[in-house]
Amino acid sequence: MQYISTRGGVAPVTFSDAVLMGLARDGGLLLPESFPDVRARLAAWSRLPIEQLAFEIARLYADDIPEDALRAIVRKSWAAFSPVPPAPGGKWTEPEPVPLRPCGPVRLLELYHGPTLAFKDVALQFLGNLFEYLLGRTGDCLNVVAATSGDTGSAAIHGLRGRKGVRVFVLHPAGRVSPVQELQMTTVLDDNVFNIALDGTFDDAQGIVKTLFADLPFKDAHHLGAVNSINWARILAQVTYYFYGAFRAMEEEGAREVAFYVPTGNFGDVFAGYVAAQMGLPVRRLVVATNANDILCRFFATGEYRRGAVVPSLSPSMDIQIASNFERWLYLKPAARDPAVVRRWMEGFARDGAIRVASGPDGTFDPVLRAGRADDAATLETIRRFHADFGRVLDPHTAVGVSVALSSPPDPGVPAICLATASPAKFPDAIARATGDSSLARDPAVEALRGLPTRKHPLPADAKAVAAFVAART
Ligand SMILES: *Cc1c(COP(=O)(O)O)cnc(C)c1O
Repeated sequence: MQYISTRGGVAPVTFSDAVLMGLARDGGLLLPESFPDVRARLAAWSRLPIEQLAFEIARLYADDIPEDALRAIVRKSWAAFSPVPPAPGGKWTEPEPVPLRPCGPVRLLELYHGPTLAFKDVALQFLGNLFEYLLGRTGDCLNVVAATSGDTGSAAIHGLRGRKGVRVFVLHPAGRVSPVQELQMTTVLDDNVFNIALDGTFDDAQGIVKTLFADLPFKDAHHLGAVNSINWARILAQVTYYFYGAFRAMEEEGAREVAFYVPTGNFGDVFAGYVAAQMGLPVRRLVVATNANDILCRFFATGEYRRGAVVPSLSPSMDIQIASNFERWLYLKPAARDPAVVRRWMEGFARDGAIRVASGPDGTFDPVLRAGRADDAATLETIRRFHADFGRVLDPHTAVGVSVALSSPPDPGVPAICLATASPAKFPDAIARATGDSSLARDPAVEALRGLPTRKHPLPADAKAVAAFVAART
């Protein structure tokens, strides 16, 4: 499988090169040149445990890694997840890392049983193991530079801590990540981990990372690598649970199609679902659920992708106004794989902060994608109601998706799968505000972090300052 750039300026590269390159060298995003059609394999795949399913999917895209090595990487990555008992009444009888639990009108796909209690562990454990393998093969070193709105940073740090040949520099917007997220990052004291507390927003942090990667001499001199959701390996790892969740729901409900509701920030997670649908998974609807930072929701209503100001919300990992993975969808769908069109749009976006796209003949922008939004009030009401009605505590990101599922449910007979992207224990303040009970969001893994020594480096929101910090340590 060869990988190409959405902007057309990179000669096709292998999977390994795509993973190490991160952002394409022409400023675009890397994509496989095609998506394998797996419809003939769905029946066999539906019986596989998740780590075997993950391997079957990964081998289609990572075909330059020997199968034994890839199998070991995938197995090790899923071993970082705690097996939990499946949903009562579910057919799966073994404990499993990604249970699907019915909850009132929806099903919750619990993706947060990894080391940092959020779904990003799925991708970052895989990426950490992959980096270690690829660097061990060549003896190279890699300096990972990443922006985080909270969960990426902690998942990246836990995926990369102590790994040989890798340093990790994580930029978080100071004071704009939850205290638990901050502790999960700053209590990791391994020599190869640098937490940068940036005086700015997540978009500032992401902009700085993009600037460093766009400076090719700097990128090459300092061997920069990416772990943000622009890295294709992350998308690939996440494709797995769309198949897995759909198989469980179809089996339990005798359904032939499913709908996913995806709490969205950078469009990485929902893009993995889009890839699953391109491969032939019967996905009727893939619903982009945003908080008040609703650039994507406005896009799907109007066709205009227009940057707005970032508003802090109760779901900080989705406080994003520039969804970097959106370019992959723009390339595949409205630009019909024409990189010249993508280049023109992205230049226009950089200049004017807006892109206009025409809808298709059916009046939509994509037959699969829809969008909805839930502000903080709706988020709190959803958390309160699910606790009162079903005894279930939702984290605020998950609640955004659930709220959108309640206001725009799928057609009858199509199960609504809501991605449960984080444990409520990461966001105790929101749970307390919604339910009046702060004790509902406790997790021993989180309690153990309080009082531990921490380390972070405050820096201004300035690419030069960050470049100097990185250069001094590599
Ligand atoms: C990162 C994150 C999201 C958003 O995922 P994207 O891939 O950026 O769209 C949603 N929920 C949680 C808990 C997250 O950490």
